[in-house]
Amino acid sequence: MSEQRLPPSGHADPSVAILSQIRCFGMRKAVCWDKDSTLANTSHRHWMVRDVMEGRRTWIDYALNCAADTPVHSARALMHLLAPSSLQVVTSGAHFEAMVPVGKWILGNQFPVDMIRLRRDQEMKIGPAQLKIRMIEELREEGYEVVLFVEDNLATAIEIEEVTEVPTLCLNPRYSPRSQGIVKEFEVHI
Ligand SMILES: [Mg+2]
Repeated sequence: MSEQRLPPSGHADPSVAILSQIRCFGMRKAVCWDKDSTLANTSHRHWMVRDVMEGRRTWIDYALNCAADTPVHSARALMHLLAPSSLQVVTSGAHFEAMVPVGKWILGNQFPVDMIRLRRDQEMKIGPAQLKIRMIEELREEGYEVVLFVEDNLATAIEIEEVTEVPTLCLNPRYSPRSQGIVKEFEVHI
């Protein structure tokens, strides 16, 4: 999987990319960010949700198609404000096969992200809140203090905060009713 790594990541786990070695080893406070619909306006690929739900495409196809996402400017502004005092960690349910396009999108859109953790093969059936709770627990096990989580989905945010006691901020791209309708039709969190 080495061709899927982003330089300068040297992490052995392909679901993790380290973008800032010095900060990751030197800073202990961390802010976790959901990606889709928190950092990224994904409305251009919402049409794919129906194909995924009806078996013509996969969530991996959906994640790989992130290059044309547009940045959520308020999220990026907040991340830049927080970056001097904490690590910025993207904790996304996108499958790790999308690490290269996800990383390129993050770097290309000037998000000051230090670390990316994506979904592993063995995590495909884990719901979004449980997955992100697991990611928080992993960061804690590595010695990080997770001081804030930023998430677009209300139910996911509530569950993360209840289980982990990490304050969780809801932030979203203010999608049009049409985009929201597609997502609600299938009751998916993207
Ligand atoms: Mg999301």
